[in-house]
Formats: sequence, C-alpha cells, structure tokens
Amino acid sequence: MKWILLACLSFVAISTVASDSRCIRQNGKCVDWRYNICPGGVARGMCSGDSNRRCCLYCSSTCEWSENNWDSCCDSRCKNAGGTCQVDSNYCSGTYSSGLCAGPSARKCCKSSSSGVCPLVPYVNTNIVGYNGLTIKIEPGFRSYMDQMNNWAISCSVTVYVTHAFRLDGQNLGNTVVPPATTSNHLVGHAIDMNLQTPSGWCNSKCLQGQKNSKANCFINKVRNGGLRWGGDFGTPDSVHIDDGLNRNNKSKWNNLYYLLQRVCK
Ligand SMILES: [Zn+2]
Repeated sequence: MKWILLACLSFVAISTVASDSRCIRQNGKCVDWRYNICPGGVARGMCSGDSNRRCCLYCSSTCEWSENNWDSCCDSRCKNAGGTCQVDSNYCSGTYSSGLCAGPSARKCCKSSSSGVCPLVPYVNTNIVGYNGLTIKIEPGFRSYMDQMNNWAISCSVTVYVTHAFRLDGQNLGNTVVPPATTSNHLVGHAIDMNLQTPSGWCNSKCLQGQKNSKANCFINKVRNGGLRWGGDFGTPDSVHIDDGLNRNNKSKWNNLYYLLQRVCK
C-alpha cells in the first residue's frame, strides 16, 4: 500500500514537471501571471495548472538592461497617468494604451480599471469608533458586517473601539505583488482588531479572552453566530480580532483584492 502511494505521488510529481517542461526548456518560469510582470513577456499553454499559470519568458541581460533603461529614462507619460509600462502579453486588470512607453510597440501602458484610486472607505457609526482618533478603513464588501456589528453593539450596550483595520503588507511591492503565505483579512480590509467599552469597564484582549464580562460576551456571541469569525476561537487565540473569513470562503476574491489594495492604497 505504501509502495503504491509512493508510486502515485512520484507519478504526480513527474507529470507536473513534464507539463511545465516547455516553459522550463526555454529558461522561463511558470507563475501566476496576475501577480508577476515579466519583461520578456508571457506565454500561455506552456504550464500545468489552471489558466492563470503561465510561462514568464526568459529576459536576457540585454532585455533586463533595456527594461531598466526605458523605465528610468522614458516611461514618465505612462507613470504620470497612473499606469505601468509592460509587454502587452502580461496581465493587465484595466486596459493597454499605446504611445506612452519607450521600447518596441508591444511595450504598452497598463492602466488599471480603478485608475489608481484606493477603494477603501472610512467607517464610523454610533457604536463603532476608531481608538485614539484612528480612521477605520474597510473594503466596501465588509461594510454590511460592520453595520451588523454596530447593531449588535447597541443591543449589548457596548462601544467597539477599533485599534486596527486595513493593513499594508509591508513588503517591497515594486512591480511585483505576490500574495503572502499568510492571508490575513486585514490585508484586504475585511478585518478589525478592537477593545470594548462596556457598562462594567474597558474590555481589552485579556478581558475578551477571559469571557467574564457579560456585555462583552453578549457582543462576541452575536459575532460568532452572525456569520463572522472571532479570533478568540482561532488555534492561536487572538481575542481582539474579528473578520468575515474571506481568505477561506473566497480565496480568488481575496487574491484580487490583495492585488488591487496593496498596490493603490497607502
Ligand atoms: Zn486582527
């Protein structure tokens, strides 16, 4: 049985390598094309996996030199328009325009459909406020959950003080945005960290985890039963954290939001 399993596993390994081989033979690399910009261009049909896995074609030292040169000397018309110059076989979430980039005609200006505008919105309500004057920023898809939380806060006589909402990843983004291994919902504006003001006093992480404050418990239980996740239930408890589980329920939406927000939101 063990042997059969091993044989199956090695077959899978060999077949994966085999279907990437056309790309590898040309010194290319199979990547998710949505998160990489390849100066040498991108080719489809040369990689295993779904249609987003494409061959990032080899870029020689001459190719690299040209790319850097064009980028530093002559791409300002595209950059000033909020775009990125790239070979047009690369992924572009918006549209390509000609005549704004240096180099061959296939090197075009990709302007995203959001045209560089950060879609995050500030949130404030009667019973949800930013701690220490923090502006709570969320992705619009998370707003209905915030409204629900506000209603639960009212019915449990607590005020939610948000200490943390959207977060930039902190990695050097440059031209390449690679989703991280840890897919925190803070990175897409679908999570908050909070403390609670309750009739019996302030409830911080220790108080929330201890679950001895009845009004705090009232709120947390509504969160848990209302389609949201409370961090106190996580394997490594994080009692100040609440999110909607987007990273688990809809990974491709999480990826798309990550890609957009981490680029255009500061
Ligand atoms: Zn958190």
